[in-house]
Amino acid sequence: MANERRTFFIETFGCQMNDHDSEIMAQLLTGSYRPVLNVNDADIVLVNTCSIREKAEQKAMSLLGCLKIIKKDKPHMVIGIVGCVAQQEGKKILSRLPYVDLVMGTQNLYNLPALLGEIIHNHKRIAAVEQSAAFEIPPYLPEVDKGSVHKRFVTIMQGCNNFCTYCVVPFTRGREISRKFKDIIAEVRHLAAHGVREITLLGQNVNSYGRDLKSGQTGFAELLRAAAEVEGLKRLRFTTSNPRDLNDELIQCFADLDILCPHFHLPVQSGANSILKRMNRKYSIETYLDLVRRLRAARPDIAITTDIIVGFPGESEDDFQATMNLVANVRYHGAYSFKYSDRPQARSTAFTGKLSEEVKGERLARLQKRIGQIVMARNQEYTGKNYEVMVEGRNKSRPDQWFGRTASNHIVNFTGAKSLQAGQIIDVKVIEACQHSLRGILR
Ligand code: SF4
Repeated sequence: MANERRTFFIETFGCQMNDHDSEIMAQLLTGSYRPVLNVNDADIVLVNTCSIREKAEQKAMSLLGCLKIIKKDKPHMVIGIVGCVAQQEGKKILSRLPYVDLVMGTQNLYNLPALLGEIIHNHKRIAAVEQSAAFEIPPYLPEVDKGSVHKRFVTIMQGCNNFCTYCVVPFTRGREISRKFKDIIAEVRHLAAHGVREITLLGQNVNSYGRDLKSGQTGFAELLRAAAEVEGLKRLRFTTSNPRDLNDELIQCFADLDILCPHFHLPVQSGANSILKRMNRKYSIETYLDLVRRLRAARPDIAITTDIIVGFPGESEDDFQATMNLVANVRYHGAYSFKYSDRPQARSTAFTGKLSEEVKGERLARLQKRIGQIVMARNQEYTGKNYEVMVEGRNKSRPDQWFGRTASNHIVNFTGAKSLQAGQIIDVKVIEACQHSLRGILR
C-alpha cells in the first residue's frame, strides 16, 4: 500500500499535555498520511495514553482490546501505544500485546514519522522509550491555515522534579526539561501571525520553567512578559502549577499584564498539612492560603480552580474535614476531585493506611456536593454583569445560540448574534448562572 493512501487515527486519554502531543503527532503525520475520524477506517491507530489515574489507563487498555479484534480482519493495520503508559511499561508491551507494532515514549514524539516508516517498510515492531537528560524539545512551527484556529497550546517544558508521592510524571515524562526561550517565542509569534488569538503555555510545572537552562536564561515570569508582547495575541493562559514553585514575580504578572487571563489553576490536593506532607507537596495550607490571598490582591477578578485527591493513604475523617473546610474557605470557581488510586512506580503505592473504596467513594460524594454548591454560588456572582467573551462556535442543536469563554475561563452560552467568527471578542451580558456554564445575551 502506498503511503499516500494510508490513513491514521489518534485516540487521546488524559490531560491537556496529551491533547497537545496528539495535535503535534497529527501535524507530523499529515504530510504523508491522511487523518480519518473513525478508527475502523484507519490503517494506523495511535493510542495516546495517560497513567496518572487508573481509569484513564483502563480505558486505553479497553480500546487496545477492541483494536486487537479489528486487526484480525485487517492485518496490515499498524497499532501504536504512545505516551505515559508506553513510557512506564516499555518493551514489555511488545511481548505482552503481540498485535502492537509501536511503543513510543514521551521523549520520542518527534521521531514518530521515522518510526512508522521503519514499521511499515521494514516490517519491524519497535519500542522507542529511551529517555535522556540531554533531550531538547525541538523548534517547532506548526502549519496553520491563516485564520483557521483561534487558540492553541504551546509546550514550554516537559517533565517534573517534584516527586509528589502519588504521581508518576517524573518517571513517565522524566525530569524537568525547559524548552529554549527563543523557540517558544518563535512559535507564539508564528501562531499569532497566522491568526491565533489565544495561547496556553503548557508544562507539568510551568512555575519552574527555566531552572534547568544555562545561566543568563529566563524564568517563567519573563517568558510570560515576552509572550504578552507578541503582536496580535489577545489572551494568554498557562497550565499547570505546583503551589510550592509559585513566586512573587509570577503573581506580579497578574497585576501588570492585561493579556494574562484572570484564571489560575492551583492544585491543592488536600486541606490537611499531615496529608500534604505524606504527598511530599512541600507547602502548608497556611502558605497556600497566603498565595490565594496574594493572587486575589494582585488581580481581584481572578478565578481560582483546583485539583483534590480524596482518600490518600492515612487520610482520617479529620483530615478530610480539613479539605472540606479549605474548599469553603477558598470558595473555588471550579475543582476537579478524584479518589486516590495506587499507580505503578508512585511511592504512595507502598504506604500504609489505605482506605476502602467505600470510604473513598462516600467522601468524594460529600466533597463534590459541597464543591457543586460553591461553584454554583460563584457562578451566580457573574449574573447581571458584562464580560468580554471569545467566541468558540455555534451550538449545533440550537442555531440561535453561540458559545464562548470569558477571560476567567467560564463557558458562556449566549443568544442575540447572527454571524460571528471563532476567536472574535464580543461583549455579553450574563443573565443566568448554571452549574457548569453561564447564560447571556449579546450586548
Ligand atoms: S508537581 Fe507533583 S503532581 Fe505535579 S507533575 Fe510534578 S510530581 Fe506530579
